[in-house]
Amino acid sequence: MQFYALKSTVLKVLCSRINLAPICKRNMACSRYEYVKSYELDDRILPNVWIVIRIDGKKFHKFSNAHKFEKPNDVNALNLMNAAGIAVMKEFRDIVLAYGQSDEYSFVFRKDTTAYKRRASKLLTYVTSLFSSSYVMSWPQWMDRQLSYAPCFDGRIVLYPTDENLRDYLSWRQADVHVNNLYNTAFWKLVLQSGLTNQQAEERLRGTFSADKNEMLFQEFGINYNSLPPMFRKGTILLRKRVVQSEGDDQEKGSQAIVPMHDDLIREQFWREHTEILSKYVPGKYVSPSVVPILLKMQLSEESQLVKATMS
Ligand code: ATP
Ligand code: ATP
Ligand code: MG
Ligand code: MG
Repeated sequence: MQFYALKSTVLKVLCSRINLAPICKRNMACSRYEYVKSYELDDRILPNVWIVIRIDGKKFHKFSNAHKFEKPNDVNALNLMNAAGIAVMKEFRDIVLAYGQSDEYSFVFRKDTTAYKRRASKLLTYVTSLFSSSYVMSWPQWMDRQLSYAPCFDGRIVLYPTDENLRDYLSWRQADVHVNNLYNTAFWKLVLQSGLTNQQAEERLRGTFSADKNEMLFQEFGINYNSLPPMFRKGTILLRKRVVQSEGDDQEKGSQAIVPMHDDLIREQFWREHTEILSKYVPGKYVSPSVVPILLKMQLSEESQLVKATMS
């Protein structure tokens, strides 16, 4: 008994010498290295702000060439990004909206999320690494070429205090798709169809406005830019919805899924249709169109397999 009392006193003295008094309790291992833990700083995000995490592929210009992406838009590569975005949204249920275009994805966490105690580094690293690993895991489902090296993504967190700031952020990303896609569509037509070199195409487009590029696409290539697939022009918005077959169906009976859409989120109309994003969050109703988007079809069939498995 006396021996243990003595041992405990010696421990306390030792701990206090190296400033470990609050950490070292009775029966707790008291390592002299433990103090380094106190160098870790609290990185909890302030309350009541929209948390946006944006990831972006590292050197995807090179990656897309190495993996022979169709130019300017490889549909399968875009859907692969969308599949990885869906995997992230399934895991982090406090993400209310995600938006993807090219090699980037933005994830919006609800303002009051308590996920990982709002610790910035936990949220950022989990989202970025889950996105990367899901991208690699889904690769064979979408691409008919072998993955020749490991892709990686950077990630950042940006906080927006008001709904207006958040909407402006998303509008900024969607406007970026428009500018880039119009340029890239014109550029690749000049290269692939008119036989210009990359440099000649660049020179031809230098200093042109949107209207000039639209006109050029129409006059020289017979392309009406607005009739190109909406995924190329608008990017992809992912929303959590309850999917029903017709307008009259009870929302509660619908299956929950992450629905991809390619709407114009700069317009007021989008926010009027999806009021759940900015208000108290409950998945909204989504009436399944006659042609179900492939990424939604995959989720619904996964769910019915799950139901079958639990029933048998
Ligand atoms: P950084 O490492 O700085 O992000 P980056 O090469 O990835 O460099 P970005 O501005 O992110 O530069 O651009 C991504 C590039 O990836 C696009 O310019 C395009 O060339 C290519 N890319 C991404 N997705 C696709 C796709 N689905 N189809 C064709 N090309 C794509
Ligand atoms: P958190 O998400 O908080 O990190 P965690 O379950 O990952 O939770 P850790 O403290 O990181 O907790 O511990 C990792 C755990 O993973 C270990 O306790 C052990 O059970 C298990 N583990 C990791 N590597 C191995 C391994 N090579 N062999 C057996 N078990 C392992
Ligand atoms: Mg990139
Ligand atoms: Mg990018």
